[in-house]
Amino acid sequence: MSNNLIEIRGVSKHFPDHPVLHNINLEIRNGEFLTLLGPSGCGKTTLLRLISGFEEPSSGAIYLDGKDIAGIPPHQRHVNTVFQSYALFPHMDVFDNVAFGLRCKGIAKDEVEQRVHEVLRMVKLDTFLRRKPHQLSGGQQQRVAIARAVINKPLVLLLDEPLSSLDYRLRKTMQIELKQLQKQLGITFIFVTHDQEEALSMSDRVVVMHDGEIQQIGTPRQVYEEPDNLQVAKFIGEVNIFETKVLAADDKQLQVEIEGKLFTLKNRRKYKAEQTLYTLVRPEDLQVWSPSEVNDTETMFSAVVEEVIYKGCTVDLMLRLMSGKRLAATQFFNEDDEKLDFLLGEAVWVHWIPGWEVILPHEA
Ligand code: ATP
Repeated sequence: MSNNLIEIRGVSKHFPDHPVLHNINLEIRNGEFLTLLGPSGCGKTTLLRLISGFEEPSSGAIYLDGKDIAGIPPHQRHVNTVFQSYALFPHMDVFDNVAFGLRCKGIAKDEVEQRVHEVLRMVKLDTFLRRKPHQLSGGQQQRVAIARAVINKPLVLLLDEPLSSLDYRLRKTMQIELKQLQKQLGITFIFVTHDQEEALSMSDRVVVMHDGEIQQIGTPRQVYEEPDNLQVAKFIGEVNIFETKVLAADDKQLQVEIEGKLFTLKNRRKYKAEQTLYTLVRPEDLQVWSPSEVNDTETMFSAVVEEVIYKGCTVDLMLRLMSGKRLAATQFFNEDDEKLDFLLGEAVWVHWIPGWEVILPHEA
């Protein structure tokens, strides 16, 4: 059997007045934590609804466990969904909410008892059996919703922004719990979010979407460190983008001009001379020095510190180059380095280690 639990082949979805998804091709592996990440309206929820059966594709096909699931109603797909709104039964207590699905299937009382207790232990709610939803915190209600969704042992759990209504701290805690639960259960999770930090920290793979299309599929590291295009680079984290002119190129190296300085960079994507490119450098990959710390400034830019934001373990700087271009730079505290007290208006030198950049073509 293939390791793919779901295969989405050439799926498009059009609503009467507009197209929403265009030629989606995606393979989702057994037991993986996959996240659909993209801005509001890019079609993430629509893709989940196609998998769960609440919508049908306009064209293309979806295979679940090797079978084309066109026309199979949601309750027969072995797919469950956890919504942002929890959707618990308000008049039922925790136990009854979680037991509901099993009772509907006519499962024997003893087995219901045993399975409900087991799943409530997993989500750490075994001491809250008789509470009603309104007597629980947001995080606890979300755990009931998750327990209810996994008790039937679905092949896939779809989670549509399940943490977005929780406050920051609870959200962080729930991210860890959810990831642990997924490992424990071994069920494939397809998680939707527009929060890039959440996507990077939780997923085995991330699918970056924009305007109804998949822009990139990769591990969190791949989409962050090796974005396929500018759209992905800008959506995932902050990035400094330099206009770059290629002066000379061979198979291995590029001689380029950036902000009036000459650099030799690796030619990983086989660019050619005279091409105009973008060089991308993440804020944490920029190094900032005071003039007394450096001798050779040939591949450094002269800049002035315009903003200093203290963040605890980092200092975020906004720098202005002579050309007027602004750069974001994040400096990490290091016990050996006392020079992190940057002053507004201070003159500095800024550079990055060659090889840490990503070079992308101008897009049409
Ligand atoms: P968000 O993060 O805001 O939930 P999303 O990426 O999940 O956004 P979708 O909910 O999939 O986006 O919506 C994609 C587009 O499809 C939007 O423009 C939305 O208005 C439209 N859409 C969704 N459902 C329908 C529908 N039933 N009929 C018509 N248009 C719809």
